[in-house]
Amino acid sequence: MFDIQQFLNQHSRIVEGPTAKGEMFLDRCPYCGAPKTHKSSFTVSKVRPVFYCYRCGTKGNWTKLVSKLGKMSYQAAGLIVGHVKANKTEEKKEEQIVVRFPTSAMWSTRAVNYLEKRQIDAKTRDHFHLYFCNSGKYRDRIIVPVFHKGERITFQGRTVLPDGDPRYLSPPNDGKNRLLFNYDSLSTKIKVVILAEGPFDVIRLYQNRVTAVCSLGKSISDTQIALLKERGIKKVILMQDRDALVRIDKGIGKLWRKLSSQFDVEIAPVMCKNDPGELDRAETQEILQSTCCSAYELKRMKFETKRRQYANGRKAADIS
Ligand SMILES: [Zn+2]
Repeated sequence: MFDIQQFLNQHSRIVEGPTAKGEMFLDRCPYCGAPKTHKSSFTVSKVRPVFYCYRCGTKGNWTKLVSKLGKMSYQAAGLIVGHVKANKTEEKKEEQIVVRFPTSAMWSTRAVNYLEKRQIDAKTRDHFHLYFCNSGKYRDRIIVPVFHKGERITFQGRTVLPDGDPRYLSPPNDGKNRLLFNYDSLSTKIKVVILAEGPFDVIRLYQNRVTAVCSLGKSISDTQIALLKERGIKKVILMQDRDALVRIDKGIGKLWRKLSSQFDVEIAPVMCKNDPGELDRAETQEILQSTCCSAYELKRMKFETKRRQYANGRKAADIS
């Protein structure tokens, strides 16, 4: 359930209320900017989903206000408030999709070896409800379920074969661009989250006692950003695979630009070490202490990545 009072506390300042009638007054109107004088002019109802400014007369529903204060689209705000009007047909269509989960099988030696190679222990494996599938379309894949608010929505199947293609396979049109892997582990107390590249990075980071999430694709959608905002996230640390830094202008740079309009964004320089999925606890901590946050630093990091690659004798053609 959406809590308007909690949202306001995160994005503005309530100077009075909730009153007996459920009215909350903000110190400043986000539309006309009128500050609190003798009495605040901007009121939001906690009981009914509406707001009103006594000075400029702007009024509307919570979704409009959440969109304004949270700097997000009306559509994204609607998802947070749980009051989606736009695109309702699309919403309905997506709701009807019920993902069928592949059947579970005994863990094969290969699958066990894969988890061992990734150094994922049994406790972590069970925490994420991982299981093995050995038949049909998802044969030889570890099934990684994606939960959202306690519900098992969809999954990704990671091949355990060295030449398995694609590496990750998931059901089509499962609404994955509206979900974040490991989202349920974000409590409203957590203000900083790591955005990793894939589920196994997130799983490994969990084992290193660091909270991370990932989108289930290369980019991040407005809905996924809205989900982070809903949990009150203030800072996002991008921790992507080493190779992502070579693709700075496209991959990580694009993410960085999109996220930095909404959050403080920092980049964890994983390229000095391994991929996030291979780090141990000490290395994770070390990397998290050396994040950078400016365009200048990003350029320097990119330069450093290239330099290292040349030093490692990689072909110049690999570096785009
Ligand atoms: Zn106003």
